[in-house]
Amino acid sequence: MVIWKTAKIIKKKKWTKRLFSIILHADISPFLAGQFAKLAILQKNNKYIKRVYSYVNPPKSKNLEFFITHIPNGIMSKLLYKLIPGDEILISKQSSGFFTIYEIPKCEILWMFATGTAIGPFCSILQDGSKLDQFEKIIIIYAVKYTEELIYLPLIKNIQKKYEKKIIIQTITSQEKNSSSLQGRIPTLLKNQLIETTVGHILHPQTSHVMLCGNPAMVKETQNYLIKHRNLKKHLRRSPGNISSENYW
Ligand SMILES: Cc1cc2nc3c(=O)[nH]c(=O)nc-3n(C[C@H](O)[C@H](O)[C@H](O)COP(=O)(O)OP(=O)(O)OC[C@H]3O[C@@H](n4cnc5c(N)ncnc54)[C@H](O)[C@@H]3O)c2cc1C
Repeated sequence: MVIWKTAKIIKKKKWTKRLFSIILHADISPFLAGQFAKLAILQKNNKYIKRVYSYVNPPKSKNLEFFITHIPNGIMSKLLYKLIPGDEILISKQSSGFFTIYEIPKCEILWMFATGTAIGPFCSILQDGSKLDQFEKIIIIYAVKYTEELIYLPLIKNIQKKYEKKIIIQTITSQEKNSSSLQGRIPTLLKNQLIETTVGHILHPQTSHVMLCGNPAMVKETQNYLIKHRNLKKHLRRSPGNISSENYW
């Protein structure tokens, strides 16, 4: 049974028409970077609506941060979007999920692929910093539709400075041209090897582990391509491989 805690909204950041972040304070149990919490809001019909959201903040933070897409006609995201500082919602005391660095075997190159708000769990993992020393390189592929949606790019660039040449960041904008981003969809840019050519590393099963997060179409298509054409294997606790994934819907 879920134990609920009251969470008080401390701040709301409206980034674009579709994207916003909420920062809240709640007395929850410790969690692992990469995990998610359940949020709940009471609706007008007196019923709670519940959805899960990944932490952007590392576990040691005083406040909790969530990066959210305002979905047209989305029930929960619309209610979250309306929140203002001082409002209260509910959050699960316990967090869930296995999309954490503790599930990733030691390897040479860790690839982090995110679409949109799914950069959140990677921000949490990178800010936390635990176990990152078990990888020689970490390559972050941050894909959005438009340049203005690269909201957490400054944060990951700041983290990159601390790690000198260990972290490589490559942005992708699918719907517009931008001189520092690749243009297109992740699966296509893997198939034509543009991602690997640009970052200067090969995605090989002997050296790499891939973490995929966000849009289920991207996750499915990328995973299928890596399995069929690049000899990678889905990673399970009982059967180690080199692809870990989390679908947002
Ligand atoms: C493990 C996990 C972690 C998640 N973390 C986040 C998070 O950090 N931030 C976040 O915004 N959402 C996240 N989600 C999605 C979130 O739980 C809700 O599904 C989302 O906010 C939509 O709820 P809604 O009631 O507004 O829309 P609904 O009425 O439930 O409509 C859902 C539809 O919205 C679309 N959709 C759902 N999520 C997204 C998204 N993030 N971007 C674009 N389209 C989407 C899909 O087409 C889906 O069918 C996560 C989901 C999972 C399973």
